[in-house]
Amino acid sequence: MKEKIISIDQGTSSTRSVLYDHNGQFLASAQEEFDQYFPEEGWVEHNPDQIWQTVLSTLQSLILENSLSSSDIASIGITNQRETTVVWNKKTGQPIHNAIVWQDRRTSSFCEELASYEKVIHQKTGLTIDPYFSATKVHWLLNNVEGAKALSLKGDLLFGTIDTFLLWKLTQGQNHMTDVTNASRTMLFNIIDQKWDEELLGLFEIPSNMLPQVYDNVADFGITNVLGGEIAIGGIAGDQQAALIGQCCFDPGDVKSTYGTGCFMIVNSGDQALYSDNKLLTTIGYRIKGNTTYALEGSIFVAGSAIQWLRDNLRFLRKSNESEELFKKSKANNLYFVPALTGLGAPYWNPNARGTIVGLTRDTKREDIVKAALESLSYQTYELIECMEKDSNVKISEIKVDGGMIDNKSFLQSLSDITQIKIIRPKNIETTSLGAAYLAGIQAGIIKNISDIKKLWKEKSVSLPKLKNKLAKSQIKDWKYIIKNINDLY
Ligand code: ADP
Repeated sequence: MKEKIISIDQGTSSTRSVLYDHNGQFLASAQEEFDQYFPEEGWVEHNPDQIWQTVLSTLQSLILENSLSSSDIASIGITNQRETTVVWNKKTGQPIHNAIVWQDRRTSSFCEELASYEKVIHQKTGLTIDPYFSATKVHWLLNNVEGAKALSLKGDLLFGTIDTFLLWKLTQGQNHMTDVTNASRTMLFNIIDQKWDEELLGLFEIPSNMLPQVYDNVADFGITNVLGGEIAIGGIAGDQQAALIGQCCFDPGDVKSTYGTGCFMIVNSGDQALYSDNKLLTTIGYRIKGNTTYALEGSIFVAGSAIQWLRDNLRFLRKSNESEELFKKSKANNLYFVPALTGLGAPYWNPNARGTIVGLTRDTKREDIVKAALESLSYQTYELIECMEKDSNVKISEIKVDGGMIDNKSFLQSLSDITQIKIIRPKNIETTSLGAAYLAGIQAGIIKNISDIKKLWKEKSVSLPKLKNKLAKSQIKDWKYIIKNINDLY
């Protein structure tokens, strides 16, 4: 009986293939890391063929190690690191260059030249002009890889975010498709009429025949034979949107926040695209059966990577999870760490900002700095909530959290103390892969609709504020003063 679902979760540092049953119950997973290339300062690349190999081998291990055959699998869902850009030759199947990763800043000066288009680009795409998104990366590839421009004009090149490249590989070059959530992060897609935007394609000099066709998150994305028999691919979503679905944030005002390497917080804004006055991004949350749900998103570029930095560069801890013991040990209350190690994301969008620690005394110990690093995520989350409430006019009363950092209970308590709201940890914290599995399950008919998914979501624990509101507010005031000055300084 075909009732299992495989979710391919292609992330920034590793690829995971995850097996779920028809109730969204986690059964097994296989994971592989791949190489990160930093050819120049601020440049970040992946090898698309190596990424594809990790997908193939994690899929194969999952099948082998769980004694499955392709006939056990009802459908495959794909979720992926967003914005990362691949251009390949459709005749040879070869990428013309490494993938340019979302973190890559090589197109910053081109983005500065585009400043006069800020308003029109924001209106059409919901995004702010930044190297983060795919458009300037495609432009760079076409203008910097020898012969690329001519090949693109001949119609020989294809562009795709990672989902599209993987789908093309899985279907042996048959299907060149993407979904609305990935399309909405390219800075080429009009999120209102939901079409590739001719004017933007002209601006970035990208031929429209390079672009994939855009579908709902639940769709017939084709059939793969890579595991022996035929398996349908029934769902695709970018990783943060997949987490929104995995966390069942289906009503306006529902918020999820993922604390991994970076932090990405998304609020469901219903069937209308809300434009932020507070520098949040407007994006497509999901589109199922032609019905679009929009979302507002705030990104903090350095989250768990602040703990990695304290671990690897300062050697304050050996493993990230030691940060919880250190947090508990600390008695410091007036230490602030602004982890702008790669600039500041929302709502500042200042790529030049750098980090700082304020409030050091002769008595400051490493545990105090670790605690301040964790608390910085709570203050930044508070600032994003403030922006989301102003933009949406909705009071946010709880956040569903996921990602590697939420194993740290002290961090969750700090989040609740500073934001003064309820922090909910789900039973399955693999919400990204779960979201993609749900989408594939809907297409396969195993799950009827999103109300069915609501019944499957389970809460594991809740953190409620223990700190007095007055004290939280006074600490937030100090934080805001410090971060404002850091932002102004750079
Ligand atoms: P990603 O999906 O972005 O690769 P994960 O969700 O796997 O990231 O989370 C990994 C991040 O979480 C790392 O940056 C790590 O430092 C951090 N992390 C892991 N465990 C803890 C912990 N117990 N406390 C704080 N941070 C943690």
